Formats: sequence, C-alpha cells, structure tokens
Amino acid sequence: MNKPLRTEIRASACPHDCPSTCALEVEVLDGRSMGRVRGAEDNLYTAGVICAKVARYAERIHHPDRLKHPLVRKGPKGSGEFARISWDDALDLVAEKFLAAEAKHGSEAVWPYYYAGTMGLIMRDGINRLRHVKKYSGYHSTICVNPAWTGFIAGTGKLAGPDPREMAKSDCVVIWGTNPVNTQINVMTHATRARKERGAKIVAVDIYQNGTMEQADLAVLVRPATDGALACAVMHCLFRDGFADREFLEKYTDVPRELEQHLRTRTPEWASKITGTPVETIEAFAKLVAENKRTYFRLGYGFSRVRNGTVNMHAASCIAAVRGSWALEGGGAFHNNGAIYHWNKTITEGLDAVDPSIRVLDQSRIGPILVGEPDALGNNIPVTALLIQNTNPVSVAPEQEKVKRGFARDDLFVCTHEQFMTETALMSDVVLPATMFMEHDDLYQGGGHQYIQLGPKLIDPPGECRSNHDVLVGLAKRLGAKHPGFEMTPRQLIDRLLSDSGWGSLAELEAKKWIDAQPDFDTAHYRKGFAWPDGKFRFKPEWKTVPFRSPWYAGPVNEMPALPDHWEVIEEATDEHPFRLGTSPARNFLNSTFNETPTSLAREQRPTVMIHPADAVTLGIADGDQVVLGNKRGEVRIHAKHFDGVRRGVLIAESIWPNHAYEDGKGINTLTGADAIAPYGGAAFHDNRVWVRRA
Ligand code: SF4
Repeated sequence: MNKPLRTEIRASACPHDCPSTCALEVEVLDGRSMGRVRGAEDNLYTAGVICAKVARYAERIHHPDRLKHPLVRKGPKGSGEFARISWDDALDLVAEKFLAAEAKHGSEAVWPYYYAGTMGLIMRDGINRLRHVKKYSGYHSTICVNPAWTGFIAGTGKLAGPDPREMAKSDCVVIWGTNPVNTQINVMTHATRARKERGAKIVAVDIYQNGTMEQADLAVLVRPATDGALACAVMHCLFRDGFADREFLEKYTDVPRELEQHLRTRTPEWASKITGTPVETIEAFAKLVAENKRTYFRLGYGFSRVRNGTVNMHAASCIAAVRGSWALEGGGAFHNNGAIYHWNKTITEGLDAVDPSIRVLDQSRIGPILVGEPDALGNNIPVTALLIQNTNPVSVAPEQEKVKRGFARDDLFVCTHEQFMTETALMSDVVLPATMFMEHDDLYQGGGHQYIQLGPKLIDPPGECRSNHDVLVGLAKRLGAKHPGFEMTPRQLIDRLLSDSGWGSLAELEAKKWIDAQPDFDTAHYRKGFAWPDGKFRFKPEWKTVPFRSPWYAGPVNEMPALPDHWEVIEEATDEHPFRLGTSPARNFLNSTFNETPTSLAREQRPTVMIHPADAVTLGIADGDQVVLGNKRGEVRIHAKHFDGVRRGVLIAESIWPNHAYEDGKGINTLTGADAIAPYGGAAFHDNRVWVRRA
C-alpha cells in the first residue's frame, strides 16, 4: 500500500502582478512538491479567497515545460535550437559579452530589463543594484502604473487612501477601471460583503460587459478612454442637485467654485455623446453617489492604458471630493497604497551607486529603442546587450513588430532568465532557468491593501533553476561589480530592508506572519488635510509638479486640461480606422503568465476579438469567423465573437495570448502603440484605432 503523502500547510504570498498580493496557505507534500493553494483565512484582506489560476498553481510550478538547465543558442535567432551548458560556462559567456559591449560602446550599451513577473522586493528589484554599480543604461518603468498613479496623486498629493477593507463598510462601492472578478478577486469579497450586510450598491464602470459588470447593481458601459467625461457629468449632477458637500469643498479643496462653473456645460447629455452611455445610466450613477455619501471609489489600472488616463483617473478621484465622501468610514477613493511603506531600498537596489549622468531608457519603448530610433535612445549609443528577468517583452511590449525586429538584430546579445521558453527566451542567446516564488525567499507589499508579507522558500526548484538573486551575484562576481548587497543572502537582504525601513526584523515578521501597515484613520482619509502644503485636494493640479519618479516629461504634457475633462488626445476612430480596440486582461492569464498552463489555455480557448453584432453584420462577419485587425503598426489575425456587451465601434481582445497562438505568430501587441503618455510615460494598450475585415 502506498504511504500517504505528509502534508504541511505553509504560509506564502502571491508574487504576481496583481494588486491583491494574496496571503496564501500552501499544501507542501512530503516537503518536495505542492498541492492545493488557498487564501489565508486570518488575513483580513485576503479573507480566505484567491483567484482560480493561483489556486491551481501546482499545474504551473510542476509544469513539464519548465526550463531546468542553462541553454546556449546554437541555431539562428528564434529557431529554438539550443544546447545545454553549465551554469559556470553560461555566466562566463554572459559576463564576457557584457564586458565586450561595454568596451566597444561604453557601459550604457548594456540594458538590464525587468518587470513584474514577480513583485518580490528582493527578486524583482535586485537587478537595479547590478545596473547602478555597473553604470548600465537606466530604466524608466512605465508600462503599467504611471498614468494611473500620477492621476491619483494629482488630487490627493499622495499614493494612498482609505483602508481597502473599509469597502465592506460602504453604502456604495464603485469599481472603476478594474475587473476584480478576473484578477484582484478580494475587491469583490469586500464589496459583496457590504451588499450582503448593509444593502450597499455596487457600481462597475468598464469598457465591456465583463464578469465584474455582471455582478454589479449598476453597470456603466463606456467607450474606451472616455472616463473623464463620465466623471465630469457625475460631478455636474452632484452640483446641480445640491449634493456637493460645500463645507468639505471649502475646507479641503483648492478651487471648488471654478470647478462648479467649469462643470456647468459637462451635462449627462454632453457626456453621453462621448461615452456612448445612455443619459439615464449616467443620472442613475450620479443618484447613487448623491444618496450614498459613504461611497468608496476603487479605481484600477484600466486608467493607465489610455492616452488620457492621467486626466481620467484624476477626474474620477475628484467625485469623492465633491461629494465629501473622504470624510466618512467606507468613503473616499483608493487606487494603491504605495506611499505607506516608506521603504529604504539602498541595499536591495544599490541606490548608493546611482550615477545621475547615465542615460535612462523607457521600458515601454523597447521596440523603438532596439531598432535604434534616436529619440528613444536619447544618445548615439546603441543597446547591444540585454539582461532580462521577470518579463516577456516580445509578447507584452507595445509595437511588437519593432520589438521583434530589434531582438532579431545580429549585433544584440540577449540573456533571458526565465521559467518557461517564452517568446523572449526563444529570441535569446543564453537562457537561464529561474525559480518560482515557492522556491526562493522574498518579501512583498500589497498595492491594493496594506500588508507586508513574507514568501519563504518552501520547496527545492526543479533541475538547476536558480533565483534572480543568485544569478545577479554570479554575474556581479564575474563583472567586478562590488556592493554589500551581492555579499548577502535573500534572507539577510529581507532582514536589512525591513530594518532600514523601520519595519523591524525578519525574525519579527516571521513571528507575526505579516505586518499591517495601514495608517490611522485620520491620515488615510486625509482628515488632517491632503498631502499638499496647503492641505487642499487639487481639482486644478499643476501637472508638471505632481510628485512622481520620472526622469522627464512625456507626451503632450503642455496640452493637459487644467480641470477635470474629456481630453481628446486619444486614438479616436476615423473613417479609415473606424474601431477602437482594447486588450483587457483575460480571466485565466495574468499578462503573459499562466498562458502556458493547460487549464488556463483550455478555458480561454483561442485568441478572440469581441465585436458588437450590429457592427459584425454590417461587415459581413459571422460569429467565429477569422478576421484581420489592422492599423499603421501591423495586422493581427484573430477569431471574431459576436458580443453585445461592447459599445458600437469598440473591439475587445482579452489578452495576453502567446504570439504562437495566432496563425501567423503576430500577437495582439502588434497593434498597440509605444508613444509615451503624458505626463510621465506609459503604454496605451486599450487605446488603439483599427480597421477590421473578414480574413
Ligand atoms: S487574486 Fe491576484 S494576488 Fe490573489 S492569488 Fe490571484 S493573482 Fe494572486
């Protein structure tokens, strides 16, 4: 008889690029493999609930296709012809190529490139230490947060807000620009608790009728990038109907009378023409906010994916100020809690080695950079060597044709440290096998909540996988990069990061399991004033002084509207390109993560674009037909699905499928643009004009 497996339940944290950063309970079987993953019941934000794709994580971590050994390219780039190589030989080769690139063009020819495949503060951020010590090209992180964060900070002065657990104490929860039924499931936990226990209403605002919209009491369907118009109309109604909180406005805001005057013409009828949303729906939304001062606006990253996203996010956050919702428990606006953690990342990121004279390159513009566009490069030094961790730019970056052309360059050396043979790994010269989160020690902060959590190593990795930290230490040694961070273990780095930032020690964190970093009520609700010198919420921000980590201004920053508005900077439809395309996240994928697991692939079926049936009929497109989408950046072949949960003229392609899932290998980001968003950069993944025709 087989001996039953010894099952231990161990604590961990979800490392993926999702604001929920769920506290996990993991079944570890016989100390070697993992079973089911559950949400930690005793974590007040996770509250026992996680998304399905992470619950079945065993499928990913024990996937037969995991990379297990270092590989060196033997055939042409992209051919998939690799040979096994030892770790020492692989790291020697990478170091030799980096030193050669540096000798030929200077240190800025090397560009360490990473993103949020893990959100761990040790494994994600350590690459910056190598960058700074070696004076490699800098990295302006833009692909995700910049427009949304900037828009929020423009009003409050700070990236923080009321405790997200307070959603359960609201009378109305507005879920705007995020689809938590797919990812960030905990928002639904707290919002539905408010509905069950207090009769609260849930409003969802989105560009298609997704799972969250279906669960809402009021679903507000807008055309992409028109949220600013909707927000203005809601505020118009609040002023018009006597629900603007005059006392709050006088005490806590900058130009309330100027705003009121400005909004006089921003009627529901005006907004309806822009958003495509019926006047009655806009009025109904405004009425809910009017009747429920205790409204919690949970504003998501959808705002970040359009060219006017900064302005839209700011406009949405302004509603809570007009209504005075900030003052009440369960009221206010929340986007992310990044500012509450006060990290000192000197040891992890090597901030003591930063040289401000080194050029900085925009993450989102990797395509234009690699094909050598002068404005993207910033100087005449080409990028001839890349070190890539935790990201898959050949799939996820905009202007994919340029990205592919760049990666195909003969004079570009690429080392990718990955878990699977992604499109990016396939285009690399050296591929190194990477650990997953339960195979190394790391530390996490919640963006959508307020916990600091530990993710300890629970099992050994397969084959010869090594952690990001181990790779960086190995390279630093060979490259002559000296920094105390390279002499430490991940656990020592965690301990030091915690103590340098005023959060105690690793031993204390292990004893407590997590740290609840939520500021006190008055601070979180800005009851002592907003985070500007005069304490006033800004309806009229000075866009160029919004505090945000950016080396430059981007996009048409001088044209940004002074007050909340619909900013017509978007890729509006034209006669030639009559559709607007959004690439919203698929339920079973997370960016390009999970698009290798069998259950996720089976549930998502195939790359699909949703089109309104009336539009489809006009174009002679039957449900299930293959169609071609195109614009000046390229063409994509994809299957059409009739769906009346989009506005006419809008297409939604849930993403991100691997490029090879498309008939000709051209992924959806062939159509997205790498032009920078004002004021601090970003990529407009939901803001693309396209044409569509039957294939
Ligand atoms: S909801 Fe987000 S944080 Fe939670 S388990 Fe899923 S991907 Fe991870």
